[in-house]
Amino acid sequence: MLTVNEIFHSIQGESTYTGEPCVFVRLTACDLRCSWCDTPYAFYEGRKIALDDVMTQVEAYECPLVEITGGEPLLQEDVYPLMERLLRAGHTVLLETGGHLDTGKVPAAVGKIVDIKCPASGEADKQHWGNIDRLLPHDQVKFVIQNEVDYQYARDVVSRHGLAKRCAAVLFSPVHGVLDPKVLSAWVLRDRLPARVQLQVHKYIWGPDVRGV
Ligand code: SF4
Repeated sequence: MLTVNEIFHSIQGESTYTGEPCVFVRLTACDLRCSWCDTPYAFYEGRKIALDDVMTQVEAYECPLVEITGGEPLLQEDVYPLMERLLRAGHTVLLETGGHLDTGKVPAAVGKIVDIKCPASGEADKQHWGNIDRLLPHDQVKFVIQNEVDYQYARDVVSRHGLAKRCAAVLFSPVHGVLDPKVLSAWVLRDRLPARVQLQVHKYIWGPDVRGV
């Protein structure tokens, strides 16, 4: 049984899978409160759904790519059997996690997208740094960047941990409507940083405040 906020079919707006059709399973609840969080409705809203029914809803979209997100999906123990079942059904499975909970039980075949929280989020001190050692070549790391202090923090973490060599992509995402992507891009180019600047494409397709897309 999982507490689910929403299950929907959309275009993947982030990561190296940007632009691909994807089914999103958004689980309810998060124990962080990032200052720029764009899914606060997932903190409490949701209903309990049996795993079989989650699978039925996902399969109805006939889509090979599935992302489990939140909220913080690793707060619910049944997320692990869900990942196993999706993998067994032949899906490419992505997991978006806030980075503060241990990813050690996530199946190796799942593509983890692990956040590293920067200072302006207000949650940087919660980071579970051991997750960096668990990154696999197909995983990705994401920094949401609000200002230059965040950028410098992210740049130093990328360099200190050699992140570009540990995973498929280091994603730098400007806080939508706050940090101009041109400014972030100029910083990345200036510092010759091995990072991928990404925009949240779904917000450009459907608008920044539209849910379920
Ligand atoms: S970890 Fe994600 S869901 Fe939780 S507060 Fe931060 S951005 Fe929002």
